[in-house]
Amino acid sequence: MASATFLCPNCTREFRKDAAFVVYRKIVQVVSCPDCGCVINCADIMRGDLDSGMTPSGWQLMLVVGLVFTAGMLLLDDWQWWQAGLVGFLLSGFIARIWSHYEWRREARRAEAEF
Ligand SMILES: [Zn+2]
Repeated sequence: MASATFLCPNCTREFRKDAAFVVYRKIVQVVSCPDCGCVINCADIMRGDLDSGMTPSGWQLMLVVGLVFTAGMLLLDDWQWWQAGLVGFLLSGFIARIWSHYEWRREARRAEAEF
């Protein structure tokens, strides 16, 4: 699954693959990071080399937090199971997304340190 976001290899900030990047790709083949100004090859972005998004441990975290929250709400409160599940997985998806973001940043920093 292709990610809709990618990380700048230099400052590890996360960006969206929006229309601007796609248009730039056709004209200049590279974009500069709006944050640190480093040059990013558009082919790398489109190939997915710099993808960010949900990491495998992010998915696991989402599943665990979602199930725990759902079970907790069912036990402690008299919510309908679908209400608890809905809120639980929205919440856990949000948490997992943030988790994944920081994990990608860590990965990017580690890759950078190896050079
Ligand atoms: Zn940057």
